[in-house]
Amino acid sequence: MRKSDIVVIGSGLAGLVAASTAAGQGKKVTLLAQGAGTLTIAGGIIDILGCLGDGSPANNPIAAIPRLAQEHPYRKIGVETVEEAINYFLKICQEEGYPQIGSCNQIQWIPTAAGTLKPTCIVPRTMDISSLEKTTNRIIVGFKYLKDFYPRLIAQNLAAMPGYGGNYEIVTITPPFGGRDLSNLDIARWLETDEGLKEFAVQLSQKVKRGSLLIMPPVLGTSPDYRILNWLKKNLECYLLETVTIPPAITGLRLRSLLINHVKKLGVKVIEQAVVTGSVIENGRCLAVVTESADRQRSYYAKSFILATGGIYGGGLIANSDQVIEPIFNLPVKTPLERDNWTNQTLFSNREQPFAKIGIAVDQRMRPIDETGTTILSNVCIAGRTLAGYDYCFEKSGNGVAVSSGYKAAMSV
Ligand SMILES: Cc1cc2nc3c(=O)[nH]c(=O)nc-3n(C[C@H](O)[C@H](O)[C@H](O)COP(=O)(O)OP(=O)(O)OC[C@H]3O[C@@H](n4cnc5c(N)ncnc54)[C@H](O)[C@@H]3O)c2cc1C
Repeated sequence: MRKSDIVVIGSGLAGLVAASTAAGQGKKVTLLAQGAGTLTIAGGIIDILGCLGDGSPANNPIAAIPRLAQEHPYRKIGVETVEEAINYFLKICQEEGYPQIGSCNQIQWIPTAAGTLKPTCIVPRTMDISSLEKTTNRIIVGFKYLKDFYPRLIAQNLAAMPGYGGNYEIVTITPPFGGRDLSNLDIARWLETDEGLKEFAVQLSQKVKRGSLLIMPPVLGTSPDYRILNWLKKNLECYLLETVTIPPAITGLRLRSLLINHVKKLGVKVIEQAVVTGSVIENGRCLAVVTESADRQRSYYAKSFILATGGIYGGGLIANSDQVIEPIFNLPVKTPLERDNWTNQTLFSNREQPFAKIGIAVDQRMRPIDETGTTILSNVCIAGRTLAGYDYCFEKSGNGVAVSSGYKAAMSV
């Protein structure tokens, strides 16, 4: 019988941080990883809290937490633990050679591939907006055949943004392969080759002056390091700034590979392609979870379990026409009673969406509770987007909740 101290289910950001935290405490951890999670389609930047439920900005996210509703995950996690968790995350990135910029006390407004600004807190050095202050010579670098990055639109929109005003030149790089649509991933892989990087630098150096700021899609490699950034900075003597963009999110891929390497180094046993289909429960405790594959079922026993399977998008919650279910422990999912009340009438409204807040309600130790507030399973904790009570998309808190609830869950079990 395989028995761990802790089994973590789900290898999105919440599960990876939970596994790392628990292993760092000397626990024997097994991570059941069905897939990559939303990290690889979402930006690998950490939004902590961009605004409150009424839409007012949260310039200092940590200071704004006490103003959130009681049911919000940050209120369960606690201000001090959120700070501790974010500092823990920053420490991991530093130790793994991919240090980040930012803190939980201040919003940074970073440019997107639409030329708008997004409030976030922690970003890689490739998104260091302090370079904006260093020069007025700003250039948007586009790539021929690249989808979903339109330099002219970005230049036009950015020029109207506070702190970003001024003129933007446009430069287009032609990759040596084409004739088809390219994604950021194609360009990033090209720049990872010595020839690709040199060719890119040659084309750029013919078109840009030294000391310019080059704003580009996130293409500076897929690995969690700054090799390409540093090489280009040195050889072109320019500043570089990656924008946030739509999937595939290269910055998310970098972060995922950093965290997977990190947990493996800590001795976490990572079981890939493990789809958890059920659990063995006795007297309010989980004894094991069960995975299923084409050939057989396997049971994973542990003293405690962390459920970090994501929301409807990640597969942790399944929405039917009139209810939402959590398929592994069959936990009650906090949902508005009437199906008609799951959404606002306007999809892109200036209010939170009730469906976005659907999830599992927890106690102060992140254990699942029922509608009377009674703890249901004493050795199971919930982390990440599976949690009820927050609309991460509206308030800009997705990865911040994932990091801090993963950390708190691992500290609580
Ligand atoms: C398009 C998009 C853009 C976003 N952009 C940002 C952003 O810029 N900044 C930000 O902070 N947040 C952003 N977010 C939100 C953020 O990505 C998530 O809130 C956060 O990463 C959720 O992490 P998680 O680990 O809880 O869930 P997920 O990332 O959903 O991970 C859940 C994991 O559990 C696995 N799983 C599910 N069911 C099972 C099962 N039965 N057995 C085993 N494994 C299972 C899934 O395969 C997945 O690997 C974005 C989200 C999306 C969708």
